[in-house]
Amino acid sequence: MHVRDTIYINGAWVASTGTSTIEVIDAGTEEVFATIPEGTAEDVDKAAKAAAAAFPAWFAKSVDERCDLLQKVADQLGARNAEIAEIVSHEVGMPQLFSSLIQAGLPTGTFGDVATRARTFEWEREEGNSLFVREAIGVVGCITPWNYPLHQIANKVAPALAAGCTVVLKPSEVAPINAFILAEIMHEVGIPAGVFNLVTGTGPVVGEAIAAHNLVDMVSFTGSTRAGKRVMQVAAETVKKVGLELGGKSANIILDDADLSVAIPDGVFKCYLNSGQTCSALTRMVVPRSKLAEVEALATAAAENFRTIDPFGAAPEGTFGIGPLISAAQRDRVRGYIQKGIDEGAKLLTGGTETPDGHERGYFVAPTVFSEVDNKMTIAQEEIFGPVLSIIPYDTEEEAIAIANDSLYGLAGGVWSADADRANKVARQIRTGQVEINGGAFNLVAPFGGYKQSGIGRELGTFGLEEFCEVKSLQR
Ligand code: NAD
Repeated sequence: MHVRDTIYINGAWVASTGTSTIEVIDAGTEEVFATIPEGTAEDVDKAAKAAAAAFPAWFAKSVDERCDLLQKVADQLGARNAEIAEIVSHEVGMPQLFSSLIQAGLPTGTFGDVATRARTFEWEREEGNSLFVREAIGVVGCITPWNYPLHQIANKVAPALAAGCTVVLKPSEVAPINAFILAEIMHEVGIPAGVFNLVTGTGPVVGEAIAAHNLVDMVSFTGSTRAGKRVMQVAAETVKKVGLELGGKSANIILDDADLSVAIPDGVFKCYLNSGQTCSALTRMVVPRSKLAEVEALATAAAENFRTIDPFGAAPEGTFGIGPLISAAQRDRVRGYIQKGIDEGAKLLTGGTETPDGHERGYFVAPTVFSEVDNKMTIAQEEIFGPVLSIIPYDTEEEAIAIANDSLYGLAGGVWSADADRANKVARQIRTGQVEINGGAFNLVAPFGGYKQSGIGRELGTFGLEEFCEVKSLQR
């Protein structure tokens, strides 16, 4: 068991001013896996003051000096890949092989990319009699969720530090141990005291204290739309910049000329990754009504080729393993949505509300597919955050696009067609921050973020670096 009884403020591991602890539950065993301090607003105040005091000297360093340190962070994350993957598999429940590639691999890649990219970033340029300068926004408060915990931390912390900002991080209290590893690495590689601070605790206490603090210049939040709205309200009092990466209900449009034998299994995989606990999961599969029977058969076969497995177990040869959901609350919520789908008249093809066979422990939900879903149904409108796919039939291409855009969210999407030009035209009409065409691979440096209630701003790559900058113009 991991017992963490200190938080990291001003370059030192210190006790919280609070006395309570939070238990972290292992998603696969339902046992207590770790305990962490339940931080307080006073802890946030100390961390914000340390970050503000450290800002001038960190900002005054050259970009190369900052990037040299960030490269060392990337190297250490890479060296500790197996340890991080194992921790996140316990916290989140993702099978270990995927955790190694995604949960540990992506943050390593992001720190490395930022450490290279910031060196050649256009920090200033001239136009007319002006010099436009991008410079660090100041102290950044980072609040992050549990589903890809270290990835979401890296998306904020790496570019903020590269830009010359200092940071107060509040990781998800549901999957926080990976953040302690990052703090250890920050300390070991010599990130100066106060530049990176870690305060653990709950959202309403530590998160809101960060959003409210007058020394925090920007709050960068990833999580649910519900909590994001609250962060924005709290941050309004001090008129700080707010970056929001929120929920999604992304549509995957299968056009009538697509190769269904490739598109459908790929679409099922993009819905089920991390047991469906992915903000950009392609949860609505929008398909030609004339091909519905064929799609149903392929989707059922693809879903039934997923096996619920222990995060440290292996899936049988030729099948895909998916782990448990993160918590009992999440499992019950997802099963509630499956029941709602049945009650509202969707056609259940496979899966359902029963515990999959052989799992007495762990928060498992059966990989589920609904067909004949109407886009007005609850399961087509609300983010479920579990392995539940909704197949929605359409009659015309215009209708398919209208269905995709009939959502409060606008995070991601997909289009499949044998004709690349046609797919491109449809992709451009989808009102979301990302669209993958014919299964186009995730790109770790492509701007990531949402339209509509999926958020404000972009992370990753050059756009992600710009987020943490103010712009100053000097007239000569
Ligand atoms: P959550 O909103 O419950 O929690 C996210 C973080 O916010 C946690 O650290 C939590 O403690 C904190 N928080 C909660 N209430 C708060 C408040 N009132 N004030 C300040 N902070 C508060 O989300 P979650 O359950 O951890 O994560 C799942 C959600 O995150 C899903 O909706 C998912 O779509 C979204 N998400 C979005 C992205 C993206 O990039 N767009 C990425 C991953 C997850």
